[in-house]
Amino acid sequence: MQQSLFNSIKKSYFPRWDQGSHWKLKVAGIRKRFGEFGYCDDVSKTIYIASEIKKKSDLQVVMIHEICHAVTRTGHGKMWARRLLKAAKKAKELKNFKLEAALKKEVAIYKNSPSRLKIVKFKMKK
Ligand SMILES: [Zn+2]
Repeated sequence: MQQSLFNSIKKSYFPRWDQGSHWKLKVAGIRKRFGEFGYCDDVSKTIYIASEIKKKSDLQVVMIHEICHAVTRTGHGKMWARRLLKAAKKAKELKNFKLEAALKKEVAIYKNSPSRLKIVKFKMKK
């Protein structure tokens, strides 16, 4: 289920990203182990999604959040937020208003909580 959702999110929201399918999706128990819902590893080109997430709408938000890291190669900064808002706009176009609202909320959470910037687990090749 996660893999097909990942593929459809790529197609709808990030059509120009990873056209060669170099990125992998891994579902792992990271929520328990690291307290994270998702994790983007730029070195191994792997997006980890917590196996604890069961709801499709939650999976969509976490996947889009992590792919925005992969696309912008940044943490929770302005570029990341801008790309997330672009995905929100796309959700609106696709009439997925619930997802649009959830993505906007995600941007707001990181904007208004500087402490959450410190828990960026995004690894980047320097
Ligand atoms: Zn993040």
